[in-house]
Amino acid sequence: MSLDSIKTAFDLTQEHFQGIVTGFKKEYEQGLNTAEAKGLATMIPSYVTRLPSGQEKGTFLALDLGGSTLRVCAVHLLGQGKVKVDEIKRSISMTDPLRTGETSVFFDWMVETVDMLLKKHDLKSDTESLAMGICWSFPVDQTSVSAGKILRMGKGFDLKGIEGQDLKTLFTEAFERKNVNVKVTALINDTVGVLVAHAYNDPDARIGFIYGTGANAAYPEKVSKMVKLGSDLKGQYQDQEMLVNTEIDIFGSDAYLPLNRFDRLLDANHNQPEFQLYEKMMSGAYLGELVRLAALELVEEKLLFDGHIPLEFKEMYSFETSRLSNIESLHDDSVETQLSQLRTSFTFDASAQYQLTEHDLATMTTLCKVVAVRGAKLAAAAIASLIEQQHELLKDQDRPIVIGINGSTFELYPQMPKRILSSLSDWFGPEVASRIRLDVARDGASIGGALIAMLYAEKSVQSQP
Ligand code: BGC
Ligand code: MG
Repeated sequence: MSLDSIKTAFDLTQEHFQGIVTGFKKEYEQGLNTAEAKGLATMIPSYVTRLPSGQEKGTFLALDLGGSTLRVCAVHLLGQGKVKVDEIKRSISMTDPLRTGETSVFFDWMVETVDMLLKKHDLKSDTESLAMGICWSFPVDQTSVSAGKILRMGKGFDLKGIEGQDLKTLFTEAFERKNVNVKVTALINDTVGVLVAHAYNDPDARIGFIYGTGANAAYPEKVSKMVKLGSDLKGQYQDQEMLVNTEIDIFGSDAYLPLNRFDRLLDANHNQPEFQLYEKMMSGAYLGELVRLAALELVEEKLLFDGHIPLEFKEMYSFETSRLSNIESLHDDSVETQLSQLRTSFTFDASAQYQLTEHDLATMTTLCKVVAVRGAKLAAAAIASLIEQQHELLKDQDRPIVIGINGSTFELYPQMPKRILSSLSDWFGPEVASRIRLDVARDGASIGGALIAMLYAEKSVQSQP
């Protein structure tokens, strides 16, 4: 094995890309037609059939649980697409016992944070309950805009007995236990939140994409195509479009994902093997680990670090994705500066007396690049398939194709946006690509949560035809 063989392993050719786009489109159809795919729900209806106009006003709450952060916000909608957000953020480290403990303890903790926010901003009221949208960055099998069963959580969460419980009920009970006067009016996936939030300031938004710790996408689908809704519901929403949470993270199989030896190794060592294969090849939770595994192969062969394993590589997941972008961004400096930078980020056993070389620098840079470029292409393949799924977007040559994107891998990895666009350009050609806009939807999910809470709170439902 050698660096060349690693490069080949991570190479994602146009043929692979074609296979993935075709595979994704097949899974969209299957997911829309069947209640359950592979025992895991994909193509989950959100029951959200309207988008904000940008003119709405008022204060609504949102709670956004992501892979590593809880954000609780009061979103003040000011009209004309403008918002002001008050928020409290709390992080949940990978080793925090909250992740694997009692479900009620975890919900109490989230609700305490809501209480903190209400007190801090003087929003507490005993008479009128504020409407809250819950933005849940995990799969939920929704049966209405505010009801849904929690499915397997992922991202290191393993709460006792949570699977199969209704998400709104768990919150409602915790609000009662803690005596907090808040009413959950909507449950949404973060992808749906991002799409809705982006539509608040750009009505051309047609895809909500998350590229952070995890990855996933939502888009509006014609209800007439959503066989899984059953004929009653289809009748109720006739001729409309509904936002669909694809759960594309779960998609993919050996049949069309070009899994290499490092993907397989990562999956085999994972506490949820064979789950979220696509996400494991490309999202922020895994890029660093893939680099670590590939680097270890080279160390073993004495082709890197002269056979010494740096401290930073000793444990699984110890090499974080942010390190890839740091290393890839070094090239602007002189080799000497780059080397001294790299030396600060790798520690060797003192007895080894090892000094990083130029060869190590070049090798590490290449490893980071090949893993990240493949990630960008995989993200592009998902976006391409969603554009094709909405083929009318390709016809209207005067309109932009707007994708609202949120997530650290997209926002904090400087090379990502360009790489995704260039891959989309390879696929669609430069003309279509020039219409594609990958917009950052920062705060997207929480604003979206508040907007949907607003759209589906009783009052506004009454005021809308
Ligand atoms: C979850 C999705 C979520 C995505 C992005 C995935 O791991 O299953 O529900 O939308 O991460 O946060
Ligand atoms: Mg998030």
